[in-house]
Amino acid sequence: MEYKINSLIEQANNEEETIKKIELYCEISKELEYYDINSSFDFAVKGYSLSKKVNYIDGVTECLYRKGRCTWLKGDYNKSIDILNKAIIVAEKNNLYKNQVEIYNNLGNVYVSLVNYDKAYNYYLKALKVEEDNYFTSYKYIILNNIGIIYSELGNYEKSLEYYFRSQMESEAVKNEKFVSIPLINIASVYNNQKKYGKAFDYTNKSLIICEKYNDKIGIAHAYNSFSEINLNQNKKKEALKNLKNALKVAKEVGSKDFEVKILLEINKILMEEKAFIEIFDNLQQALTIYNEEEKDSQVAEIYKQYAFIYEEIGKCEVAYKYLKKYIDIEKKILNTDTEERLKSINLLYKSEEARKENEIFQLKNVELKRKKEELEKAYNNIRIISEIGKNIISTTNIGKILSQIYSHINKLMDSFVFGIGIYDEENQKIYNEFFIEDNKRQKKRIIDLNDPKSYTAWCMRNRKKIFISNQDLEYKQYVEEKSFYTLGEKTKSLIYCPLIVEKKLVGVITVQSLKENAFNTNTVDIIEALSSYIAIAIKNAQKSEALSKEIKEKEEAQTKLVSLNSKLLNLSQIDGLTGVANRRRFDDFLDDVWNICRRKNTVLSVAIIDIDFFKEYNDNYGHILGDYIIKVVAKTLDSTLVRNSDLIARYGGDEFIAVMPDTDIDGIKNICTKMIENINQLNIEHRFSKISNKLTLSIGAACIIPDSDECIEKFLQRADIALYKAKAAGRNRLTIFSEEIGG
Ligand code: GH3
Ligand code: MG
Repeated sequence: MEYKINSLIEQANNEEETIKKIELYCEISKELEYYDINSSFDFAVKGYSLSKKVNYIDGVTECLYRKGRCTWLKGDYNKSIDILNKAIIVAEKNNLYKNQVEIYNNLGNVYVSLVNYDKAYNYYLKALKVEEDNYFTSYKYIILNNIGIIYSELGNYEKSLEYYFRSQMESEAVKNEKFVSIPLINIASVYNNQKKYGKAFDYTNKSLIICEKYNDKIGIAHAYNSFSEINLNQNKKKEALKNLKNALKVAKEVGSKDFEVKILLEINKILMEEKAFIEIFDNLQQALTIYNEEEKDSQVAEIYKQYAFIYEEIGKCEVAYKYLKKYIDIEKKILNTDTEERLKSINLLYKSEEARKENEIFQLKNVELKRKKEELEKAYNNIRIISEIGKNIISTTNIGKILSQIYSHINKLMDSFVFGIGIYDEENQKIYNEFFIEDNKRQKKRIIDLNDPKSYTAWCMRNRKKIFISNQDLEYKQYVEEKSFYTLGEKTKSLIYCPLIVEKKLVGVITVQSLKENAFNTNTVDIIEALSSYIAIAIKNAQKSEALSKEIKEKEEAQTKLVSLNSKLLNLSQIDGLTGVANRRRFDDFLDDVWNICRRKNTVLSVAIIDIDFFKEYNDNYGHILGDYIIKVVAKTLDSTLVRNSDLIARYGGDEFIAVMPDTDIDGIKNICTKMIENINQLNIEHRFSKISNKLTLSIGAACIIPDSDECIEKFLQRADIALYKAKAAGRNRLTIFSEEIGG
């Protein structure tokens, strides 16, 4: 690969400042993408300046796209969006459709990285539409796969599978077998998530075979990694470790640093249970060396955290603290660019750090302060737990799940006789107590008005301030008109309320209460406050994701309506709505015309009726959606097998097609129809329910004639039909040409 890049660079250096040079720059940038992203970007910039200089619009567009893509790969999403938006304006203005598809698809990718699936989905649809409107499909399989990824992220595995399968079919149809390994591995991952391990294993295997065939090492490493994920789900640790080590070996060969570290960390998770510390340290050291070279903060932080964890395991708390501090420093750096709210929770980590220093001093001074030390250690521990909970809940999109996760953790950390979370509805100014637990029992939902003078919740929300009460009897008047009772009648004494705020917007409220006086201290309040930022973000995310699912559903419904309208319009014309080839009406007209022409010229006319074998079984077992898809693929393949302009392929109905070929004799028809059968064969479309093969096959019946006035078209077609019947009867997957003997 490096050789190829060097030779391209040399070629570019020897070129004058011409279009050729720009094209070489683009190619180099593309080749460098997975090896050295910064250089890849630099070449895009060079290409861009030169394109501007010589006023070469195609180059400007392509190089802008490449710049935007590299910026995305570098992780600067906002900048990438800016550049890609600039690129799309140029591409649209100049009708550069292929570029438009690339740019829309990449915008989709950026928004997926930003977890904004709604926008991503829209961009992918746009990309598909540009292809459809302009009758090409060069990116379709990639886009379908990308949409599959969105559905998979949203947990809609059925839909995600549907798109991955379509991507698989589409890449097979355009003969890009190498790409097929990607939807296959994604299908495996969905099956693994659904606990269908046998299928997950099969699809990983299929993907691996293709990757090996094309020596696609990244793909091979992914396949081994996928095997290990399946192993882990089945609790087969040994096998998982073996597969991860295979993946590591391949990742090293190909120089995929990110992947290498990911695998090293996965391996460590397994080794951790075996307490194989020497090997773990060795792996961490390797990972750290890679990331320090690449300056990847968040990963470095993750490694420091692992170090801290292991040192703690082996009882070296001092060193563990050291690494935790490093971890916190980096986290802070990252979070600085994130929301204010997230930062707030990290402040607590700082407090703990200060406390730790204090702790050291106390330790030196005297043992009498042992109690204080213990308290501090407890605080340190809490913080670790909080950051874990925080991470978990932010990545969950199901509100119910988030709330019960939080409850179970908080219950372990403090006396939470009453625990509740309310969610604020800004429109009607009410708080819905979605999740309220008293004495371990879930309570009915309650609705509180924002202006209720008797409600702590309402006070906390109105003032956007926390409430911390150690004895309600003494303190309630500062907040409410009446004391609060828990549902069974008794008074709670200690109460904490904390507003949930994200990006300055009220999302809800969290409360913890105890029947005892002084049940909470500032440490407990800190924990709740720290958690509240995470919870707020999690709730907001979950709400967004719910809204998004709803929106996608609505869009799909609208699309279905549009599709049916389109097909109605198509029926009125001459094109078959499903496949895009000629329909029956067009076929009738066409055959009439060529029949008359051949009669006048006294030349041979041929027809072939083509029918898919055991298609009913295909439909019954793989479903109508895939069935339709196959009909389309077959139509496309047949169409591209006919090369002469004077030929016509039409959908005859159902799974039957008919080819009309003027000026074609028996040898010609044999030749073409054999090719049709072979071309379908080569697509290797799985059909496990066919009774004659394990893949999809065709049967063809053909007839030739030199039309004269004694013959009629109907009879001619009937002969082809008889031949088809014979082909089916003789075992299918074959061509039969009508002759008087078989016609009988
Ligand atoms: P063979 O031709 O080998 O004798 O078997 P077959 O199962 O293909 O034959 P048959 O003609 O009985 O079945 C054709 C099937 O094609 C019936 C129906 O399930 C399916 N089919 C027809 N039109 C469509 C369509 O537009 N979409 C889909 N998905 N399936 C169709
Ligand atoms: Mg059939």
